[in-house]
Amino acid sequence: MKAIKITASITAVIMILCMSSCQSSHTTDIFAMDTVMTITAYGSQAEKATELADQKIRQLESLFSVTDSDSDISRINSSSEFEQVDSDTISIISRALEISDMTENAFDITVRPVTKLWGFTEKNPHVPDAEDIQSALKTVDSCNVEISDGKVKCTGEIDLGAIAKGYTASCIRAIMEQCGVKHAVLSLGGNVLLIGTKPDNSSWNVGITHPKNSEDIIGILKAKDTSVVTSGGYERSFVQDGVTYHHIIDPETGYPADSGIISATVVCSDDTLADALSTAFFVSGVDKSVQYWQRYSGFDMILITDSSVYITEDIFDDFQINDSSFSVVKLQK
Ligand code: AMP
Ligand code: MG
Repeated sequence: MKAIKITASITAVIMILCMSSCQSSHTTDIFAMDTVMTITAYGSQAEKATELADQKIRQLESLFSVTDSDSDISRINSSSEFEQVDSDTISIISRALEISDMTENAFDITVRPVTKLWGFTEKNPHVPDAEDIQSALKTVDSCNVEISDGKVKCTGEIDLGAIAKGYTASCIRAIMEQCGVKHAVLSLGGNVLLIGTKPDNSSWNVGITHPKNSEDIIGILKAKDTSVVTSGGYERSFVQDGVTYHHIIDPETGYPADSGIISATVVCSDDTLADALSTAFFVSGVDKSVQYWQRYSGFDMILITDSSVYITEDIFDDFQINDSSFSVVKLQK
């Protein structure tokens, strides 16, 4: 018996609680990258900036899709030669390879042969045969991605699902800046991009989805001018024979990550990094994630296990948790 659970992204993944203001605003909903995206920008250039952001999202979707056979990624995946690709495709892949190194491959875009077997984005996701997983893992282990002169060659297959929305957020941030938009909030599935403050100069309130009940929020984070990205198993999962399987794969085992973390949020003004690290931390678990945080500066995090919430010191006072059944741990350097 299989039951598919894909939560409605906008309300369930991240809720934005934002006050209205006297500045004019423009809001657009877009369905792209397999999720509902909402952009709200404020000020006289809001409408123009939102339209440009919409166009950029659609352009990036057509480059990064693994289902559209004409996309840059599909061409790379179906070829063993160097493929000429867009400069955005070069940028996102270069960044992804860097972050793979940084996270000892907990984040790994070459995991696609394995994610394909699980079929999370298809109609009938299911537990693959163990032998198929082992053989897909061999392809992942030996996979080599080369970038040269605007071209990419890959011996396996790549999947940008864990970084594409973060990269898209960084492009939208640039568009908003070019248009002179000082205040905007974007919800791209589990990714929230905050441009500046709310129009009244106060911080935005970002609701973090409750990992045990994705209709609810576990707490509210006050933040500004940053990305807040959450990876959680609840975002996409299915049940087979009474066991729940989620979509974030441990590249070491080929099975859904089982690190003890049920939700990983990264807060970072580098939008691309925030997205990739939240996926990596979900795979790596609390101890390794804390080591990364101690080694690299420039981001904060909220890690949730079955019984505890770990919050880095710089955002500790900005996060208000509303479920007292969890113990709260302040992470200090
Ligand atoms: P996110 O929601 O950003 O954590 O990304 C999850 C998506 O990234 C999955 O649906 C897969 O498409 C892909 N993915 C799964 N596991 C990994 C991994 N370990 N590294 C990179 N991408 C992954
Ligand atoms: Mg991610």
